[in-house]
Amino acid sequence: MSETPSASVKEQGNRSAYDVVVVGAGFAGMYMLYRLRRQGLSARVFEQGGDVGGTWYWNRYPGARCDVESMQYSYSFSDELQQEWNWSERYAPQPEILQYARHVAERFNLRPHIQLNTRVEGAVFDEGTESWRVTTSDGKIVVAKFVVLATGCLSNARVPDIRGLPDFRGSVYHTGHWPHEAVDFTGLRVGVIGTGSSAIQSIPVIARQARELFVFQRTPNFSIPARNAELTAQQRDAFRKIYPEVRRFAREQARNGIYAEPPDRGALDDGDDARRAKYEQRWANGGLTFMLAYNNLILDNAANDTAADFVRGKIAEIVEDSETARLLQPDNHPIGSKRICVDTDYYATFNRPNVTLVDIRADGIEEISPCAVRAGGKDYEIDALVLATGFDAMTGSLAKIDIRGRNGRTLKEKWAEGPKTYLGLMSEGFPNLFIITGPGSPSVLSNMIVSIEQHVDWITDCLAWMRGRRVETIEATKEAEEEWVAHVNEVAQATLYPQANSWYMGANIPGKPRIFMPYIGGVGVYRRICDDIAAKGYVGFAMAAGEQSPRKAVSS
Ligand code: FAD
Ligand code: NAP
Repeated sequence: MSETPSASVKEQGNRSAYDVVVVGAGFAGMYMLYRLRRQGLSARVFEQGGDVGGTWYWNRYPGARCDVESMQYSYSFSDELQQEWNWSERYAPQPEILQYARHVAERFNLRPHIQLNTRVEGAVFDEGTESWRVTTSDGKIVVAKFVVLATGCLSNARVPDIRGLPDFRGSVYHTGHWPHEAVDFTGLRVGVIGTGSSAIQSIPVIARQARELFVFQRTPNFSIPARNAELTAQQRDAFRKIYPEVRRFAREQARNGIYAEPPDRGALDDGDDARRAKYEQRWANGGLTFMLAYNNLILDNAANDTAADFVRGKIAEIVEDSETARLLQPDNHPIGSKRICVDTDYYATFNRPNVTLVDIRADGIEEISPCAVRAGGKDYEIDALVLATGFDAMTGSLAKIDIRGRNGRTLKEKWAEGPKTYLGLMSEGFPNLFIITGPGSPSVLSNMIVSIEQHVDWITDCLAWMRGRRVETIEATKEAEEEWVAHVNEVAQATLYPQANSWYMGANIPGKPRIFMPYIGGVGVYRRICDDIAAKGYVGFAMAAGEQSPRKAVSS
C-alpha cells in the first residue's frame, strides 16, 4: 500500500501536534486512520483498551458473535481484503472478528499510529489557535486541528445500581467487559441478569457448563434463530463473486445496510396462510432479516402483531413448560422496536433441568447478598454472577470525555436534554469535531460497518474539500442542527420504535432523556442526504477560511 508520509507531526516536551486525533480503535477508528494516512495527514489514534477491535476486544463473553452475516459484517473498502479473508462461519465468533480487526491493523500498517492503553480524558477547543487540545491518561497533551470521536455506540458497559452488589463474594462479570482469561463455569451455580442480545447469546453456552443457571428476566425479548453454520469454500467464493452488487445494495438501497431480498408488500396484504408460510420461511432462514418479511412491520401495529404472534407461537412450541414459555413471550413492545436478538438454542435452553427462569418484572432484584440474588422474596444461591445489563448507549462514551467547545461549553451540558447533532456527524459549537456513527445517524439501526465506512468516507472527503479551499474550520450551524434533530424525531415518531423502552430511547439509564437517538430514515436515504449536502458545498455547515480569520461562511 502506498502511504504518503506526513511532515506535520511535532513533538515538544509532553506535547505533540497532529492534524487529526482519533479517539477509539474499533472498526471506525481504524478505518478513519487508514483514510487519513492515505490523504497524507498526520493522525494519532488513542485507544483505552489493550488492542484494536473495540466491541470485539471487550465483549468476550461465551457465545459472542455477530448478528449480521460475516460476509457482510466486514469492511468493503479493500477488495483484496474481502477476497482474501476467510470467514469460517455464517456468523463469526468474537475471537475470529477480533483476529480480523488485528489483521486489518497489520495489513494496512496502522499500528504505528495507534497508542493503546491510553484514554482520552478531555478535548478543549482553543478559539485563538482554532485547534483542539487533547489530554490523555498518560499525562500528555496533544494538539490537533481536528478530532474524530470513534468511541463507539455500545462501548460504555453499564453496571446497574443493585443493592448489595459490591458485597457479593463470588465472581462478577459484565458481558461488555469480559476478562481475557477463559472463564469456566463448570460445576458452578451461575446467575445471569438480563435477557438482551448479550444474555441471549451467552445463556445457552453458560447453561451447558454450569451446574445450575438462574436467568433473572425483567423484560422478555424477541429472538430469531441464527441458523449459524460453517461456511464452505464454495459459499464464500459464490459470495465474493457478487460482492460488488452486495456492497452497492447495502450502501445505496438497503434501509439497514444488509443485502437481502426487500419486502414487496405489507403484512396485511397476504392472507393468513400465505403470511404464515412467509414467516416460516424467514424463521427457517434465520437472522435479522426476519423483519424484512413485510414492508410495514415497524410502521403498523396490526401488521407488527402478526409477526410478534408468530414468534410468540414459536416460543410456545419450543419451550416445554407452559408457564416458562408464557414468561418468555414478549408482550410489552412491538417486535423489532428493540434490536431483534439472534440466537442459537436460546429458547430450548429453558428445557434443560439445570436452567431456571426467574421473573423479576414486578419488583426487580431486591438485593444481592454475599452468596445469593434475592428476588420475589426468595434467595437464589449462586457462585458467579453475569451482568448482561447492556450499555449507556450512543452518548455514554462521549459524555465520559470532558469535551469543551466554543466559550468553554461542554458537550455534556449541551446534550443534557438529549443529543443534538447535524447528521449525527457534528454538533454546533464544536468546530472540527466529528463523530462517527453519532446520534442522529442510522448507526445502530444498521449493519454498522456500512454506516462506519460511509461516515469515514464523508469526513475524509470533507477534509480534502477544506484543504483544497484553505478552509480552517467547519461547524454545524444552529439552524441546520435544529432542523435535523426535528427531522430525526419526526421520522421516529412515524414508526413503532418509540413504543419500546429501549436503549435507542435512552430508557435503560435512569435519568437519561427519552429521545429516539438513531436516524430511522434508512442507510441509503441518509447517504443521499449527506452526499447532497456535500455536493452543494456543505450546506448547513459554517466554514471559516484562512488562519485566525473571523468566522465567515465560505459555503452556502
Ligand atoms: P467500538 O467497537 O465500540 O470501538 C470504540 C472504541 O473506542 C473502544 O475500543 C473503546 O475502548 C474506545 N474508546 C471509547 N472512549 C474512549 C476514550 N475516551 N479514550 C480512548 N478510547 C476510547 N453491529 C453490527 O452491525 N452487527 C453485529 O453483528 C454487531 N454485533 C455486536 C455485538 C456486541 C456484543 C455488541 C456490544 C455490539 C455489536 N454491534 C454489532 C455493534 C458494534 O458496536 C459495531 O458493529 C462496531 O463494532 C462499532 O465499531 P466502533 O469502532 O464504532 O466502536
Ligand atoms: P441490552 O439489550 O440493553 O440488554 C440489557 C438487559 O439487562 C435487558 O434485559 C435489561 O432488562 C436487563 N437489565 C438491565 N439492568 C437491569 C437491572 N437493574 N435489573 C434487571 N435487569 C436489568 O444490552 P445487550 O444485551 O448487551 O445488547 C445491547 C446491544 O448490543 C444489542 O441491542 C445489540 O445492538 C448489540 N449486541 C449485539 C449482539 C449480536 O447478536 N451480535 C450481541 C450482543 C449485543 P430491561 O429490558 O427490562 O431493561
